[in-house]
Amino acid sequence: MFPSEVTDFFRTQKTPFYYYDLDVLNATLEEIQKHGLSKGFHVHFALKANNQPKVLKLIKEAGLGADCVSGGEVQRAIDSGFSACEIAFAGVGKSDEEIELGLKHDIFCFNCESVQELEVLNELAGMQGKTARIALRLNPNVEADTHRYITTGLNENKFGINASDLDEVLDRLPDLNNLKLIGIHFHIGSQIENFTPFEELCERANMLNEHIENRGFELSVINVGGGFGINYTHPNDNAIPDFERFFGLFESRIKLKEHQQLHFELGRSVVGQCGSLITRVLYTKYGETKNFAIVDAGMTELIRPALYQAAHRIDVLTSSKRDKNYDVVGPICESSDTFRTDISIPEVVRGDIIAIRSAGAYGEVMRSAYNLREANSSVYSDEV
Ligand SMILES: *Cc1c(COP(=O)(O)O)cnc(C)c1O
Repeated sequence: MFPSEVTDFFRTQKTPFYYYDLDVLNATLEEIQKHGLSKGFHVHFALKANNQPKVLKLIKEAGLGADCVSGGEVQRAIDSGFSACEIAFAGVGKSDEEIELGLKHDIFCFNCESVQELEVLNELAGMQGKTARIALRLNPNVEADTHRYITTGLNENKFGINASDLDEVLDRLPDLNNLKLIGIHFHIGSQIENFTPFEELCERANMLNEHIENRGFELSVINVGGGFGINYTHPNDNAIPDFERFFGLFESRIKLKEHQQLHFELGRSVVGQCGSLITRVLYTKYGETKNFAIVDAGMTELIRPALYQAAHRIDVLTSSKRDKNYDVVGPICESSDTFRTDISIPEVVRGDIIAIRSAGAYGEVMRSAYNLREANSSVYSDEV
């Protein structure tokens, strides 16, 4: 994974920093092309997982569209060369300014989550003399079998329109003259590794598709969202998620009508494995019951362990000593600033270089300046 010249290069750099392996990203994109795009599916990349311009450029060139959840992301997508007609804009709390930005650029679709949002969008579109294309984000009430902070498709979640409110929404739509309903949208959660929730989603989507079409609306877009998980335990052996199985499941189970297209919104599964957080060991502490490796990256660079109890694989790149048990912790003044507890890694000394793996998604984008931490710029494999 990290040839010695790359490790030697890391030694010369100011740590911590994010390293992106573009070969991994390109190989991932090829699989998405082979098993998804080639079947006529539309795949939008969720910018919230990673918004590095160089990453976005490759994703755009591979033929993916953009899925945005803020005005800032809509702008970043446009600045990165995505054409407006391939940008979808989701989010439970779009501000007037964000909606106006989307309208100004005539984006492909607003994924809407409530009657109130539809009314605001209708009014703002009217003021610009435009018709906004919309998809209804429906809550399929499917248990995603993932961490509760990243499940989004249950009735108790804040996301989407619940089935019990759907008819009321459909009744309202004909009065909203500046909106054109083009599709339905779902997103049940993230880091989903078990395929059963996706199967349940297909069933619900088919039912709702049928129901809405029977009410006289023509849906051209069936958008099943994202959420496909990656392997955090074995990033080398399983660098690329099984897209053949993933797309194949939807291909066989979603009942598309002649005029309908299947859309996806993938984030983590596209970029998760191409990024690593590279950090240096500052100090070691050998206690009576615990050993600590204190590294120069912290929750400010990668918050997933603190936020979701995520366990990222840790590779020591510069030691081949015998294994020892460590808690690998950061320098931030919070006890949750811990990457892993009690893991067995080669014994480290001050100066050793460590890679925290599978950090390409929801890593650098969630960086913060807490403790007035400064950010080092990221490094790409083609620059080494
Ligand atoms: C976050 C998000 C995605 C992407 O989720 P992943 O788990 O990263 O694939 C897709 N659609 C919506 C609406 C989202 O909020």
